[in-house]
Amino acid sequence: MIELRAVSKWFGAFRALDAVSLRVEPGRLVALLGPSGSGKTTLLRILAGLEAPDAGSVWLDGAEATHLPTRQRGIGFVFQHYALFRHMSVADNVAFGLTVRRGRDRPAKAEIARRVADLLELVQLSGLAGRYPSQLSGGQRQRVALARALAVEPRFLLLDEPFGALDAQVRKELRRWLRRLHDELGLTGVFVTHDQEEALEVADEVVVMNQGRIEQAGSPTAIYDTPASPFVYGFLGHVTALPCRVAAGRVVVAGVALRVEAPDGDATAFVRPRDVRIAPPGPGRPAGAVLGQIARVGPLVRCELRLPDGTLLDAEAERDGFEPLGLGRGAAVALALRRVHLFVGASGPWPAEPD
Ligand code: ADP
Ligand code: MG
Repeated sequence: MIELRAVSKWFGAFRALDAVSLRVEPGRLVALLGPSGSGKTTLLRILAGLEAPDAGSVWLDGAEATHLPTRQRGIGFVFQHYALFRHMSVADNVAFGLTVRRGRDRPAKAEIARRVADLLELVQLSGLAGRYPSQLSGGQRQRVALARALAVEPRFLLLDEPFGALDAQVRKELRRWLRRLHDELGLTGVFVTHDQEEALEVADEVVVMNQGRIEQAGSPTAIYDTPASPFVYGFLGHVTALPCRVAAGRVVVAGVALRVEAPDGDATAFVRPRDVRIAPPGPGRPAGAVLGQIARVGPLVRCELRLPDGTLLDAEAERDGFEPLGLGRGAAVALALRRVHLFVGASGPWPAEPD
């Protein structure tokens, strides 16, 4: 188990972490998700013992580790640009953590060679032991970095945007592979990313960070279904924020009347494109918007809707359902909304239902 208790970290007058508490149960993989500068790397470095907290403590498997040297923490880590040693072969890179050991801690040469071979097989690079980093693709290099981190048989794995520099397709493959590997090895891990989809797909639990604090922690579905703050909603992306006003349990969002058990006041409604339904106007379905740009992306249609006050609202539909409607750019459409959440100031999320 990995635990942080009320950890704070200052850099001069700047507070990079503000009383952060976090618990990662054995065998779990937690994603730290947040914008650049939110403190993710600092948190990871404190876990690794590369940085000391100014307040609070670090616990590993129930023992205090706040001041334990990195080497004694049982941690393996991989960073985004954790440059491999360029003058060393793949095999020597992977062996590094073992060959630098002293005295009796250092395994015999044959034992090191055997372990390196096993690790290269694990990361599916068996044929490349003799290559140098410059002869590898980005994805292969990160797999070597991972094998190197695993060579010392860590109990905990820390990954700081390990796939951040790779292209989208390779990233997707590697993150699934990483998840399988993590489970096979029974590690406890913390995975930093600023990619929402990556966090939601890979992790058992997602921790959203903002300005050195934890904004929300929960299962990927809880984070997605019920973002706890406007910040989380905005950060998860694919959402339109619409200003509105709650009065006596009623609110009008994008021209659609909704009921909500929120206090009266100025509010912001968050609407995801998938939760906007459009149809040709008809009896009981007045026109509420005009179709703007329409983009067909594989099986989906992404539309921009212009509301009467000029506001733009994004909508997304299955092409199979959309095409038969015969709607094109400039067409007037009726709107329906589902799963809308409101924040009235800092209070929320308040689910709003059709009136
Ligand atoms: P993230 O990984 O989420 O992008 P970091 O943990 O790297 O964020 O940084 C958090 C904040 O702390 C940033 O504003 C960064 O500039 C600052 N910071 C990080 N390391 C140092 C340092 N060694 N000295 C001064 N400021 C730092
Ligand atoms: Mg970082």
